[in-house]
Amino acid sequence: MSHSRSPLMHNHVFKTLEIDACYTRTHLCDGSKLREVFFAKALSGANITVPHKEAAFDACDEIRGIAKEIGAVNTIINENGRLIGYNTDADGFVAAIASFGPLRNALIIGAGGTAKALATVLRQNKIEPVILNRSSNRLDFFLQNGYGAYSWETFTPNSYDLIINTTSAGLSDDLLPLNASLLTQLLSQARCAIDVIYGKETPFLREVKKVGLPFKDGSDMLLEQGVLANHLFMHSTVSTDTIHPIMKESFLY
Ligand code: NDP
Repeated sequence: MSHSRSPLMHNHVFKTLEIDACYTRTHLCDGSKLREVFFAKALSGANITVPHKEAAFDACDEIRGIAKEIGAVNTIINENGRLIGYNTDADGFVAAIASFGPLRNALIIGAGGTAKALATVLRQNKIEPVILNRSSNRLDFFLQNGYGAYSWETFTPNSYDLIINTTSAGLSDDLLPLNASLLTQLLSQARCAIDVIYGKETPFLREVKKVGLPFKDGSDMLLEQGVLANHLFMHSTVSTDTIHPIMKESFLY
């Protein structure tokens, strides 16, 4: 997912600002080798994608910001030989939903790494999240941290301002993240919806369109997390206000 468009996004910024840097991909088979590979390649920063975000958290010398609570890192920076870990997915998501206006609560469909990041940052922003997952397997993190968290079996529908799909349903199949009639019921009581999957109209977004809600796919989240990561890659020497329009331009290609 985000690994496919990120090189274009970051390299466009570096090229435009005439920064002598290059963003490329490395396939990491074993998460426990992350630190070793990072230093062996003499990298100054990196984004980490699924399934290594927890391993990245463990590999860092210091964790900053909301990543501490999430327990997962998607951006690492070499700061004088020390690995510093951040989570820009969370703040990127909040920036992406700002245009929806004030929200009281949200239903997060899915309970994977992205759901953890979003639940944590939503609560920090006073938007109370409830989690609904296909199985009860991954609910422990949420229950232990005091969130309302349910499996399909235990869920009782309520009304939520924002409905978020964080599952991979619709990514490379044509599946809805939950039962169609339940989803329609939830959407018809909601104010807006977002799918974190980007670049395609998922079955989830098709249902959202039918109900006529304001919606977004994951492109804005991808852009916003990328802007924050790029700012960190450049050790905060270039402002996010400068990076933002340039990185946004790369979405036209
Ligand atoms: P995980 O693998 O950690 O979690 C996947 C979740 O999806 C689980 O809760 C799983 O449920 C659920 N799920 C999978 N298939 C189905 C299905 N057919 N029906 C219902 N539920 C299903 O993934 P991540 O949280 O790391 O990533 C989720 C998505 O977010 C991916 O598509 C990823 O590409 C995207 N993403 C987008 C970003 C952006 O910038 N736009 C940034 C980060 C991620 P169960 O527990 O029952 O298996």
